[in-house]
Amino acid sequence: MKREIDTYIEEQREALVDLSTKIYENPELAFEEYYASEVLVEFLDGYGFQTTKPFGGLDTAFEATYTHGEGGPVIGVMAEYDALVNGHACGHNIIAASGVGAGIAVKKMLEENNINGTIKVIGTPAEEEGGGKIIILDNGGFENIDAVLLLHPTTGVSKVAGKCRSSHNIDVTFTGVVSSAISRPERGVNASEAAVLLHQVLGSAMRYLPSDVLIMPFLTETDYKNGLLPEIAEVKITITADEDESLARAVARVQEIVKGVSMITEAKYELKDLGGYAGRVINETVGNLLRDNMIAYGEEIQDGFIDDNGFEDFGNVNRVIPGAMVYPTLMKEEKVSNHTQRFLELADPKQAGDVITLGSKVMAATAMDLITNLDLIEKAKSELEK
Ligand SMILES: [Zn+2]
Repeated sequence: MKREIDTYIEEQREALVDLSTKIYENPELAFEEYYASEVLVEFLDGYGFQTTKPFGGLDTAFEATYTHGEGGPVIGVMAEYDALVNGHACGHNIIAASGVGAGIAVKKMLEENNINGTIKVIGTPAEEEGGGKIIILDNGGFENIDAVLLLHPTTGVSKVAGKCRSSHNIDVTFTGVVSSAISRPERGVNASEAAVLLHQVLGSAMRYLPSDVLIMPFLTETDYKNGLLPEIAEVKITITADEDESLARAVARVQEIVKGVSMITEAKYELKDLGGYAGRVINETVGNLLRDNMIAYGEEIQDGFIDDNGFEDFGNVNRVIPGAMVYPTLMKEEKVSNHTQRFLELADPKQAGDVITLGSKVMAATAMDLITNLDLIEKAKSELEK
């Protein structure tokens, strides 16, 4: 069956690369992926999937389902397609096409081999910001799914994901009092001063928090005009940690520090707690299948489960449904940061076609391994429970 998947995906290569190119050339930010979700749904409609959009409480989310027979397992493959301000510099156009490729290949296998089972391609928007998967999860969009699969392109040698960090975002706006900075500073309050102090105090506070905590503030906006004291300063703070306990402690600390800085500088503050993502957990049962299938399709892959310092919204899902993530490489020789211009160039489907087909095959083969082996699904579930 793995050979059949191989042949089928190679036949679909042009269509999948074309689909990925459309998304790549029309980047849309989180929650605005109207074009991408539309072309993906259209594509899956054309291959005989039953599609629902909007889905899970989100206009740009979708679900595409194919069921063969009755009572078989249900496997979910996720497709992401949100971009960044500099385009598809995280390669979500590749995630989308691979998710769809896996979906159509599984459908083909269920039909041709007359196997009972359901494959769902779930379009999960807003990974970069907002956590689309969490919203879909909260709205029951992942109910009755036995296992979930996701792919993300990377650089360096391909790998299966280990743990990633939990995250929390806080936006702070300081408001000062406008006055001439030179002749009447004593009548004003400088909002920028509060933002700068906040950066410093957060840096110092990190030394006295558990060592797995990272607090990263970004001064995103302040105003300078005509020699007046800045009235507004906005700071976005991202907090990450390996342990949920460390994260909770750091978040509480940050909130107290914002208050303290406001008191010291007399700048008023508004604090928006944006929540965050739960760190991914390892599911060895599903992860090992992904690895074995990467090897089966000739890809070099690292041993073990490789942790990373990033965060993403898959963790919220794979803490309740067994699932794993595979990272096929766009460029084996060198490690490049996601979100950079260089990564954007690497994610161009003109050269990333092999990653799209490999990803499609590996996820389809893994889905078929699970569908045809109920013991593996049970094992994955009991591993998660443990
Ligand atoms: Zn990404």
